Amino acid sequence: AKDAGRNRCGWFDPAMARALHARNELENGLRTAIPAGQVVPFFEQQVDLANGHVLGFEVLARWEHPVHGPIPPERFIPIAEQTGMIAELSMTLMRQAFQAARDWDPSLTLAINISPVQLRDAWLPQKIIKLLLETGFPAHRLEIEITESALFENLPLAQSIVGSLKNQGIRVALDDFGTGYSSLGHLRALPFDRIKIDRSFVQSIAESNDCAAIVGAVASLGASLNLPVTAEGVEDMEIEGRLRALGCARAQGYLYGRPMSAANTRRLLAERRLL
Ligand code: C2E
Ligand code: CA
Ligand code: CA
Ligand code: CA
Repeated sequence: AKDAGRNRCGWFDPAMARALHARNELENGLRTAIPAGQVVPFFEQQVDLANGHVLGFEVLARWEHPVHGPIPPERFIPIAEQTGMIAELSMTLMRQAFQAARDWDPSLTLAINISPVQLRDAWLPQKIIKLLLETGFPAHRLEIEITESALFENLPLAQSIVGSLKNQGIRVALDDFGTGYSSLGHLRALPFDRIKIDRSFVQSIAESNDCAAIVGAVASLGASLNLPVTAEGVEDMEIEGRLRALGCARAQGYLYGRPMSAANTRRLLAERRLL
């Protein structure tokens, strides 16, 4: 009976062993995939809600696995964070994105996700500035997206990092607004340039009055703090219309296009005479 118990919930549970094996395989694979250039930036359009013009792109990590095909970031970013690979991953991603975007129309911005783990590194601003200098991508075209959870651990360090980034002309957005807590305190504690409202609120504004009220409140909060609001996850024109009426400045989502490779983004920009 003792052995049966051990088999159900101990190290010899076959389902758990398989999951562990799969995770180890991902971790080992990722270790070589990053230097091999298999983790690449995809680009998702961000548009001006007033006129539909492309203002820039959010950079999203993709792992192009030679055997398993594309692996979504939800599967490998947490592993990269737990194993300390996230810094290297982020740097190779930024290098590729800056190199791709430096020749695009100079009005176009790049928004890049920074993990909470990276905000523990006091040298992060210097590392980003070095990459900007190496690639020739201008600081004023870069926006860093950070989530609220990143601010909890060490607010003074986060404040100092965000301050250094802003001194260099880099903008900072508060990502996934509404999914964390004590949000209003964070808005005051850090000099954000933009608020991004999470997809979960945006997508339910058509069905739920409560969600519409929350998005409306965030939009007017943004207006009174002089912070433009970006809505993410816009999939249809009805939601787009409502967001415009609620006072959102920018939007992104499948309505405007799926995230694309650098080559496909370049083709799109050529068609629109934005190269
Ligand atoms: P996020 O920062 O909230 O990014 C937006 C996610 O929503 C992206 O998923 C995007 O493809 C997806 N999305 C955009 N528009 C729509 C839409 O209209 N409908 C739906 N259903 N989804 C939409 P993705 O690329 O799978 O990224 C997932 C998350 O992984 C990101 O969420 C971000 O938190 C993280 N991530 C991605 N790239 C990086 C990275 O380079 N560094 C870090 N630290 N995290 C990253
Ligand atoms: Ca983001
Ligand atoms: Ca987001
Ligand atoms: Ca989100």
